[in-house]
Amino acid sequence: MKRATVVGAGIAGLATALRLARDGWSVTVLERAPALRTGGYVVNLVGFGYDAANRLGLLPALRERDLGLVTTTLVRADGSHKYTVPSAVAEATVGSRALTVFRGDLETVLYEAVRDLADIRFGVTADPSTDTDLFVGADGLHSATRSALFGDGFRVDLPYVVGAFPVSGPATGEAVTYIGPGRTAGLMNFGPDRTAAFFTYRTDNPPAALARGALPALRDAFGDLGGVLGDALRTEPRDVYFDAVSQVVVPRWSDGHAVLLGDAAWCVTLFAGHGAGLAMAGADRLGEALRAHAGVPDALNAWESALRPEAVKRQAMARRGMRQFAPPSDFHVWLGDVALRAMTLPGIRTLVRKGVERANR
Ligand SMILES: Cc1cc2nc3c(=O)[nH]c(=O)nc-3n(C[C@H](O)[C@H](O)[C@H](O)COP(=O)(O)OP(=O)(O)OC[C@H]3O[C@@H](n4cnc5c(N)ncnc54)[C@H](O)[C@@H]3O)c2cc1C
Repeated sequence: MKRATVVGAGIAGLATALRLARDGWSVTVLERAPALRTGGYVVNLVGFGYDAANRLGLLPALRERDLGLVTTTLVRADGSHKYTVPSAVAEATVGSRALTVFRGDLETVLYEAVRDLADIRFGVTADPSTDTDLFVGADGLHSATRSALFGDGFRVDLPYVVGAFPVSGPATGEAVTYIGPGRTAGLMNFGPDRTAAFFTYRTDNPPAALARGALPALRDAFGDLGGVLGDALRTEPRDVYFDAVSQVVVPRWSDGHAVLLGDAAWCVTLFAGHGAGLAMAGADRLGEALRAHAGVPDALNAWESALRPEAVKRQAMARRGMRQFAPPSDFHVWLGDVALRAMTLPGIRTLVRKGVERANR
């Protein structure tokens, strides 16, 4: 039996382990963290990511955890109501093949599907010199596997940082969003213990923001906000995700029997909205390529040739789209409002839906 070692038990690592184990590989997953992560932010799994979840047999379990799409209230900085965007607008922007889940729920569903098929160990790591037939570095944006294989310097930092954390409180079943010059804040409330806050802002010096620490930096950038968004920051949130918004651009994804997968290889950023989907599709297609080719290096080369154009396209989309998360001026905020309000008109919404369905094919 061929042996695979997978570093990282995030979406990419667990999806890879699941696909390979089902194809008859003996798989060991090594995760640095002491336990599986829970909670996190909300991810949309759309288009090819949804299709990969289907092929991996995960849709029934994911549907049980689907948060659905909610009405969004756009607010001003003081928390006052600006306008309402019905959930039908969100439906148009994600298309028909879509699920909305907490990242932690997606990882739990993957873990439950693979736990009896693979040897998953927490609190450990490994490097590509490990004696194995296939070594998969699915260790995220700050991948140590990438550094071991190709050296440092393949992260392209965009001028933004992002923070996200779970929020407790009563259920409203609504989302509240503030979009102002240089920054966006959102709170998605799906119920008690099912609420996540999200903040991103533009900065020319992401390392300095990270050095300040999540809460001091986020309170500096958003402390003036009123309403539920300001309240979320005034609590003492736990499990705060806070990082630079960086893409990964590395000339090759594999070297011999070792390969990078997920954010470690091609991080597209949250601005692309397809990172989780690409991780799952990448894992599924890796299984296909390994079935189709006798040698591991040939399979890895064929897999990369087919997948790389998709990652490049999503990275370009993220760079084009990042302004909508942090419009440069009040005028750009106003333009965004006009576009969003237009989408409440059924005719415009149908056009958007058709465009999204084409892009998600
Ligand atoms: C706020 C936000 C919103 C997002 N929204 C969406 C969305 O709507 N749709 C979408 O598709 N994507 C979205 N994304 C992107 C998506 O979450 C990521 O692309 C995806 O989680 C990447 O998965 P990964 O497994 O490659 O990496 P990670 O999730 O980073 O997992 C890497 C794993 O490797 C482990 N690890 C790290 N180093 C080591 C080591 N040396 N040894 C062992 N283990 C190690 C880590 O602990 C972690 O468990 C969003 C991202 C953010 C930040």
